[in-house]
Amino acid sequence: MVIAHIPGKIKFKLIILFIILLVNSKSQATYFSEELEEVSFSPFAFNNIPTSLLNISGLPLSSVQVLNETYRIRTQKQIADLCQRIDYTYKKLDWSKSPCFSLPLTFNYVSENGKPLVYWEFIDNSTGYDESQRHNVTLILGGVHPDELTPVHLAFQLAEALHKNPNLYKNSRVIIAPLVNPDGFFSNPPKRTNANGVDLNRNFPTATWNKYAYQIWSSSKDRDKRKFPGYFPNSEQGTRFQADLITRFQPNKVISIHAPLAFLDLDYEVPKLLTIGPQTEQQRKARNLAELLSRSAGNYKIKDFGIYPGSLGNYAGNERVIPTITLELSSSNPKLVKKFWRDFSPGIFKALKYEFKKPQFDDIQASALWNP
Ligand SMILES: [Zn+2]
Repeated sequence: MVIAHIPGKIKFKLIILFIILLVNSKSQATYFSEELEEVSFSPFAFNNIPTSLLNISGLPLSSVQVLNETYRIRTQKQIADLCQRIDYTYKKLDWSKSPCFSLPLTFNYVSENGKPLVYWEFIDNSTGYDESQRHNVTLILGGVHPDELTPVHLAFQLAEALHKNPNLYKNSRVIIAPLVNPDGFFSNPPKRTNANGVDLNRNFPTATWNKYAYQIWSSSKDRDKRKFPGYFPNSEQGTRFQADLITRFQPNKVISIHAPLAFLDLDYEVPKLLTIGPQTEQQRKARNLAELLSRSAGNYKIKDFGIYPGSLGNYAGNERVIPTITLELSSSNPKLVKKFWRDFSPGIFKALKYEFKKPQFDDIQASALWNP
């Protein structure tokens, strides 16, 4: 009826246009169906698919496999990029090539600047799962404050040594995160805080953070930017990464390497009221661990440095009752890395085998009483 009102010439043009469209769409449909047919049955149709996305028969991987493979390639590239940057920084510091490329590193977190927060778990598989391994898990952290250069080198060197010699972690498990704060390490010059300007050793979500951490910092005379705890606890990727390693691997002891204060600091059941009177068995063992490290390094000074509201010592040592040793090397001078390796690696290797048995639950409850 609508067509009936259209003048004859235009009506003729419309009919021709309609026929052209009809023929064209039919040929398009044929083209696509032929193409589909070809894709479905021709083995040569996969020529343009990257080899990495084909299985060994040359057929495409399933979508899940493709996702896994894409993820694997992407994470490898991210780690390779990180190692390249680390090698570049090592060169600038006049250190020999870093072991980064040779280590089987992995990551679940990335920094604020997108750098992978790498770690590796060394497990002794030679004897199968063993109860003693559960009691002997050590977490080693380096590069929390990466303007302290020497700890980064020591942590990487420890990872390299373990990778080359599995005997070093026999009957035990070791998790090493050699560079907790890559953004600080890659800034020029390297800086203590992360990309957001937060001190990762003041940002742990402890019971007292909300009440004291920001308040203590903001009311201090100098409001030292290097020690800024952040506006919220656990606000930083580097903090969440460390806390996650503690939750997942449940270490029996933590060694965090810093510089240049030249002492060992043990944080374990920090509330002083609890330490009046005889020491508990666990306290004594924790103290023995610090003394073992000290003796191996020529009676290195042990000092009770105290804790901050958002520090690792408070979070892991005090609240979670995991003996937490801060190893403060005596210098950040990159020329001294060989000396620090000689001085401290024998003691750290012994500490890896030092069993610290759980359960510690009674201690946790007692500790919680003093940390409302
Ligand atoms: Zn430090």
